[in-house]
Amino acid sequence: MAEDKKEELKLSVSFIEQFIIDDIKEGKNNGRIATRFPPEPNGYLHIGHAKAICLDFGMALKYNGKCNLRFDDTNPVKEEVEYIDSIKEDIRWLGFDWDEREYYASDYFGKLFDFAVSLIKKGLAYVDDQPADVISAQKGTPSQPGVLSPFRERPPAENLDLFYRMNEGEFEEGARVLRAKIDMTSPNMHMRDPIIYRIITAPHHRTGENWKVYPMYDFAHGQSDYFEGITHSLCTLEFEVHRPLYDWLIDQLKTAEYRPRQIEFNRLNLTYTMMSKRKLLELVQEKKVSGWDDPRMPTLCGLRRRGYTPESIRRFIELIGYTKVEAINDVSLLEHAVREDLNIRAPRVFGVLDPLKVIITNYPAGKVEEMEILNNPEDETMASRKVPFCNELYIEKDDFMENPPHKYFRLAPGAEVRLKGAYIIKCESFKKNEATGIIEEVYCTYDQSTRSGEGSEKKVKGTLHWVSAKHAAMAEIRLYDRLFDREDPAGQKDEDYRSFLNPDSLKVLTGCKLEPSLKSAKPLDKFQFQRLGYFCVDYDSTPGHLVFNRTVSLKDTWAKMKK
Ligand code: ATP
Ligand code: MG
Repeated sequence: MAEDKKEELKLSVSFIEQFIIDDIKEGKNNGRIATRFPPEPNGYLHIGHAKAICLDFGMALKYNGKCNLRFDDTNPVKEEVEYIDSIKEDIRWLGFDWDEREYYASDYFGKLFDFAVSLIKKGLAYVDDQPADVISAQKGTPSQPGVLSPFRERPPAENLDLFYRMNEGEFEEGARVLRAKIDMTSPNMHMRDPIIYRIITAPHHRTGENWKVYPMYDFAHGQSDYFEGITHSLCTLEFEVHRPLYDWLIDQLKTAEYRPRQIEFNRLNLTYTMMSKRKLLELVQEKKVSGWDDPRMPTLCGLRRRGYTPESIRRFIELIGYTKVEAINDVSLLEHAVREDLNIRAPRVFGVLDPLKVIITNYPAGKVEEMEILNNPEDETMASRKVPFCNELYIEKDDFMENPPHKYFRLAPGAEVRLKGAYIIKCESFKKNEATGIIEEVYCTYDQSTRSGEGSEKKVKGTLHWVSAKHAAMAEIRLYDRLFDREDPAGQKDEDYRSFLNPDSLKVLTGCKLEPSLKSAKPLDKFQFQRLGYFCVDYDSTPGHLVFNRTVSLKDTWAKMKK
């Protein structure tokens, strides 16, 4: 990354932090810091949410504050308990904790209703009998004032009576709404008598049939912040235009000096990625992916299954920082972050994805040697393991060529290569199926004096990974590519995003051969398959049928771009 870019990131990280530092210095709220992460339980968390989580929980941790988990469950139609459980699991996995502070906007339905009643009594809210489309048309445009509703001057007593009856189920959905009475000429459209309550007849997952009226997001969110004593309400930029309404409502509610402060930052957008929960839900429902945790999904559970670590995600979030400008981040930076983390964490092993049999003709047929191989040259504490070597091995098909080009340092007729951690071998001949042209076996001799670690002076240019054919574990390996083949699949407004789905985003290899130490690998265990990339055991894996996901290849396009 360019140095000036780094500087910019560092500055941007601190803009929210600077507000917090200043507020502490000024003694605002007695120096108390309280934040919240407010997911709506209508889908699984994605990497965009991780950006918000790292900030909300991170700032609280850093400044001795507390961060609440608050489910913003104000829409009974779209919300499900399954989502609540997954959200909690994912936040914990990312490394954050809310102790006992698990709250629900629905806990405040009573208080919110009372607040609405108080606004009605003060003449600051009225029941509007017009349908939604008429109300919307009357709103005008930013340059044209709105039209006053014919119900705007309804007397408080009548509004109160109607609002109670709305909540008793007397009217149908959409028949009436409650609106705040603010300013139909405001240049801010959100201040033009916004709807604050609507009728919904569907039962709520927590409050059941208790309520027939439900608060709108804007009416629930800021007030929930207030009820919980939140000091810094951090949210994404699209809420900037909602801030005057947020503040107006807090003004009506507040009874002391304390008030929560809303600060906005830019959303995370990623290239080749779709981040909207609604669209991710469509992909799941239409079976375009195997589920919310499909390893191609940008969800936290998908990334986890793919082999991402929480550390790599937190590191990525740190790298991109927080700014006031919408942007789209390169997904290769995320891949770079996981590669760096797995480089330290993942033991190296041998796996052959596309096997070609090699027979060492001068190696005794019944003999097996245990080769001692380092697990991670980057980390000596990871020790070493024994890998069996015998006269029948597998190498990658593309590590052999019958007619190699110049500077091909792998195996070819007459050529020599080192088998990593074992011996130097020389190709003497091969067997080719003349009908198909496929090379079926390669015959080699080994040089007994070249065993790794025993000081042989002989040098060859190529080193290959290999697996003993007699000891290999069989595996299915799933290779992933980007789910979308457009850089900005969400940005093409007049084309359906489904047409940008990459038809080659999943490739399943069967009959792969792995070194036998992998037979005991458990789901989510992570490895570097030497020369190939980082791989993670899938949940579908069993001791008899190993399944691995490729997290990321070894080649770092991001590191290349930096040069
Ligand atoms: P989506 O648009 O994907 O449906 P949302 O904003 O409706 O997401 P919420 O559950 O309401 O999802 O989000 C909870 C919190 O996470 C909010 O504070 C929101 O601002 C933040 N958030 C959601 N998406 C992103 C993102 N892409 N980048 C940063 N923060 C995000
Ligand atoms: Mg939302």
